[in-house]
Amino acid sequence: MQIQDRVEQVDDLDRYVYHGRIDIPNSYSAGTVGSHFLTELRDKKIFLGMKCEKCNVVYVPPRSTCKYCFAKMDDSWVEVADKGTLLTYTVNFAPTAAQPAESPIIYGIVQLDGATTGFVHMLGEVDLEDLRIGMRLQAVFKPERDASILAVKYFKPLK
Ligand SMILES: [Zn+2]
Repeated sequence: MQIQDRVEQVDDLDRYVYHGRIDIPNSYSAGTVGSHFLTELRDKKIFLGMKCEKCNVVYVPPRSTCKYCFAKMDDSWVEVADKGTLLTYTVNFAPTAAQPAESPIIYGIVQLDGATTGFVHMLGEVDLEDLRIGMRLQAVFKPERDASILAVKYFKPLK
């Protein structure tokens, strides 16, 4: 852990501002279900979902428990398409250190064909004025991939 700090007097009333920054390295486990999803994305370039047979809901990204009926969905894997429909989007013009691409960056929620839920990712190869809810999109994979959601570079419009 690294701590950088600076104290600054802001006026003549003996008031100070403490500027601090704490870098906290961390690791996050994707869990059994998330890890399988990510390794299949990396190795086979396929999207897997988890289906609740009782509710007929296909979760992408997958989860182990149905959020509606709380059933465990072990081994209810289904493959969904790498194409889908844009449900909504936003455009970020303010760069941050954590964002995975240059600004402006377009984030979208894509419902992959065969999935019930939306999948959050970036959009590319699209002009801002051409963005439309309901537009058809296709995943573009990176040539070199980690077991990460960023194995997908972005979603581009289907021609
Ligand atoms: Zn369910």
